[in-house]
Amino acid sequence: MRPFLVRRLSPLSRKSTVEHSFLAYLRGRCRKLPQVPIGIGDDAAVLEPVSGQQIACVDQIIDGVDFISDRHSLTDVGYKSVAINLSDMAAMGGTPLSILVTLSLPSMNSTQIAGQVYDGILEAAAEFNLSIAGGDISTYDGPLAVSVTLLGKVQEKEAFLRSGAKEGDAILVSGPVGGSILGRHLRPVPRLDLSQQLRESVDVTSAIDISDGLSLDLDRLCAASGVGAELDTEKIPIHDDAKTLAETSGRTPFQHAWSDGEDFELLITMSQADADSITVNTSDAPLTQIGNIVGRTGLWQRKQGKLKRLSPQGYAHGS
Ligand SMILES: [Mg+2]
Repeated sequence: MRPFLVRRLSPLSRKSTVEHSFLAYLRGRCRKLPQVPIGIGDDAAVLEPVSGQQIACVDQIIDGVDFISDRHSLTDVGYKSVAINLSDMAAMGGTPLSILVTLSLPSMNSTQIAGQVYDGILEAAAEFNLSIAGGDISTYDGPLAVSVTLLGKVQEKEAFLRSGAKEGDAILVSGPVGGSILGRHLRPVPRLDLSQQLRESVDVTSAIDISDGLSLDLDRLCAASGVGAELDTEKIPIHDDAKTLAETSGRTPFQHAWSDGEDFELLITMSQADADSITVNTSDAPLTQIGNIVGRTGLWQRKQGKLKRLSPQGYAHGS
């Protein structure tokens, strides 16, 4: 890649803006991506109106919290910063269109870091047909933080919400879970294809993506819907990574599947009739029914005819 410069504005401001050379470099690299009418390099982006409704989400990842720059490839970090937003978009049933990127760079090696992070961002943008509408780059005396805002569209009143699950609905998960820390968390596969197919073939009553742990995110979905879940815990698909991790972690594969975060699979509810009839063609995201929504709040396991309360566990931000 061509080098570019990041300039400090003044020692007092602790914030700097990027040189024009970088914007030129970035514009060049974005040329093969879908374009917005006015993108990088102006004071603001100008976007075309969308059909249906607009949808937006933002997620920030920070060195030492969501990744460790000494250990993880910064290109993977850039990729992840986009992919986690795409996972949120999939959870809402939306179609992603463009991103805005904010990089907060540590002063040391800022140019090199920005280039590596952008390699991953551009890779994800190319893979998912996103335009890079704009962004901001600053340096400061702090850890690398990458914030991506994703804009997209969804058909009028068709967005999947967390709050629509109804008693009797089937609960499905889009793939095996647990142990993503072994590497999958850096290269999550957003379930956009699955989301689209579901939107076209069944009535999804609620959805959420698993960012903080299957049980914690299911609990959030249930809380938003004012319902509970009765789970057939043996049906929860356990990823091989969870089994590998369990060999050294002192925890069981199930515990990893139950509570590990950053799987970025979808949890979806739909009527039992829809779940029984559903056929989706996404070989990489097999749907598994793991239980049903019940009126009684909380997460429950039915074993030998008795109900046992399960406690949700996972990664709670800010705790
Ligand atoms: Mg989410």
